[in-house]
Amino acid sequence: MSQLDPTGAESMTDERQPDNGNGLASYDEAPGLGNGEPGIGEAAAPPGMVQTGAVAFEIPGMPAIAPAPGLPQTRPPLAPQAAAVSRKAVSGCYAGTLGAFQVDLRVDIDRARPMRRVSGDFYQTTGRTVAYCGSFVVDAPTITAGSTQYVVKGKGRFTFAAGAPQVVVTIPRVQAHQPQGAATLQFLTEAGAASAVYHCAYESVYFRTVRIETDSVSDVEPPLFGSYDTGSLPSGGAGRPLSVVGAFAEAGIALSPTAGGNVIDLEAAGIDATWSDAELHASMEKHFSLWADLPQWCVWQLVAQRHDEGPGLYGIMFDVAGKERQGCAVFHAGIGGTTAEKQRDQLYTYVHELGHCFNLLHSWQKHLASPPQASRPDSLSWMNYPWKYPKGSAAGYWRNFDFRFDDEELIHLRHGFRNDVIMGGSGFGAGAALGRDVLADPIQDESGLVLQLSTHQRSFALGEPMLVQLTLRTTDTRGRRAHTWLHPDCGLVHIVIAKPSGEVCAYEPMIDHLVGAREKVLGAGDKVEEAAYIGYGKGGLYFDQPGQYRVRAAYSALDGSQVLSNMLTVRVRYPVSETDDQLAELFIGDEQGALMYLLGSDSDSLRAGNDAFDEVLDRFGEHPMATYAKLVKGVNAGRIFKTISAAGPERVAVRGARAEESAALLAGATRAEVLTPLCNDKARASLAAVQAEAQDGETAGRRMTWRKYSAMSAPKPQAGVR
Ligand SMILES: [Zn+2]
Repeated sequence: MSQLDPTGAESMTDERQPDNGNGLASYDEAPGLGNGEPGIGEAAAPPGMVQTGAVAFEIPGMPAIAPAPGLPQTRPPLAPQAAAVSRKAVSGCYAGTLGAFQVDLRVDIDRARPMRRVSGDFYQTTGRTVAYCGSFVVDAPTITAGSTQYVVKGKGRFTFAAGAPQVVVTIPRVQAHQPQGAATLQFLTEAGAASAVYHCAYESVYFRTVRIETDSVSDVEPPLFGSYDTGSLPSGGAGRPLSVVGAFAEAGIALSPTAGGNVIDLEAAGIDATWSDAELHASMEKHFSLWADLPQWCVWQLVAQRHDEGPGLYGIMFDVAGKERQGCAVFHAGIGGTTAEKQRDQLYTYVHELGHCFNLLHSWQKHLASPPQASRPDSLSWMNYPWKYPKGSAAGYWRNFDFRFDDEELIHLRHGFRNDVIMGGSGFGAGAALGRDVLADPIQDESGLVLQLSTHQRSFALGEPMLVQLTLRTTDTRGRRAHTWLHPDCGLVHIVIAKPSGEVCAYEPMIDHLVGAREKVLGAGDKVEEAAYIGYGKGGLYFDQPGQYRVRAAYSALDGSQVLSNMLTVRVRYPVSETDDQLAELFIGDEQGALMYLLGSDSDSLRAGNDAFDEVLDRFGEHPMATYAKLVKGVNAGRIFKTISAAGPERVAVRGARAEESAALLAGATRAEVLTPLCNDKARASLAAVQAEAQDGETAGRRMTWRKYSAMSAPKPQAGVR
């Protein structure tokens, strides 16, 4: 045990001596841990604790635990049955200190939907600084409910090598009129020797508390969302008014709104009221520049009217390196309105996006988690897509959904290791776990769908952006119903990359997009196509070394099938000339990758990338690689760019479109024939838009957009094909 081990005996600077004879008692085994006090979000919990006779209970090797300060030393004798009914529930958060260490202890054994666990986070004070230093959880403790106290014990799982991994938590059971009792957290070595003891005062019925700032944009049609009565339409649970804060409260998480919801005035932006990924990303960077770039329990939600993609896009969650999972946006163009259905959509979308900020994955993506879990495509959870629900699609989902997270999600929200949950902590989801699954051929595939992954060239220069094309077809001559969200940003197609080193990683987009239903029946001759840049995402640059890469995509079908693509092999060439080398140098960088992903941006944080692209254009303007710089700079110059600043009256900064500059760059990019055919088509469409804009000179009225998800590129139906 080192002095840095908060479970260690060396931590014990506490002077109090164990009080022999007071800590051990006989306890009643109580398998059904009902409790007399209403739980979180519950009107009333079923009373009546099951008493199954007294069982002597000893804690091996543990000396009697000193009662926490303030705890009554003697309790009035009570008849056990009467006591059971009037006892207070104990679940919630407790806080204690031992020497330089502090612990936030979470006890989850009664109240609503108990997950029967205890967990905690440790902090260490050094001088006048406090740092996080680890977490633990007891996944399967023995819980014993005595007439006077609960004892929860079991072996903990730790983020560090704990010298004393056995955990015993003792909490007095007080009567309804008494103050909540303090918990005692005792660590023991494997051999049962007593180690650190924390006396933890009761803090809150909530397991975690998160600050939330919700801002709205001025063009969102009122009323803004407040709450939805879940009894308004048929559902799978009791009707109740439910707000976003209420939905998290039911999960045991307190969302604490910061003062005032700011309204971001779009007057200055004229009629250009839709948002691109790049603008939202730049706004988030700006917004969070005032917040520390550290893991912290706070999140920003922007309520906007419309994304460039149109009303089919309901919400997005930003997950950018260094500032992970701290912000999300929802779009009322698709979900706004006052009907019960729309109110329900709003509640669902707001909670779903915030769920991502807590690092919850979609129900059908749980196998991506680290460590992987079984995917639950039929889960009735906020994190599923109603239209993707395999048992009756949206109608089936809403009929059965009780507006809640599923149990595994509750365990994550309440007991996940701090850095796996906290905003700004570990990255969204994880990668390697997916790889081995997806790189192996399926044992059986009766999905009736075929996914083709291709590139337009066999090999790529070092630093050259990796553009791939995805094509979905059916093998079923009767046709097959399929969703058409092929872009990996939408979360319904996953891409796995095996690097030359053998390392396997999942391509993880910087921004997760919540999309509505978009389905069609694919006939025998139909295809759905999409182009995607997969060179940069959460994992940084994926193709930054020369050598051979293997890439495979998995399409998550409506019936829950995982349709695997062919295995694509692509080679990244070694630079052979000095020019190759210089271009590789100019293209390889996080900022350049992010700019490719966003198709350009005005964001200050990406300035170094824009400078590199300028240098490419200056020095290597005629080189094929310059095509990518022209594309990125051309698309960005052609659009109006607005950024939400952190505070102050002029919260939106707007830069007008530079149509002529954009047209010149895009003309150069399309002429070169370097891009994939689909990408070239999109660049041509953008060029036509900016040329039209340059001609009529009314730059304020138009918005050049790049439809990232224009997957509806199926060829015109032939006669006889639906
Ligand atoms: Zn989502």
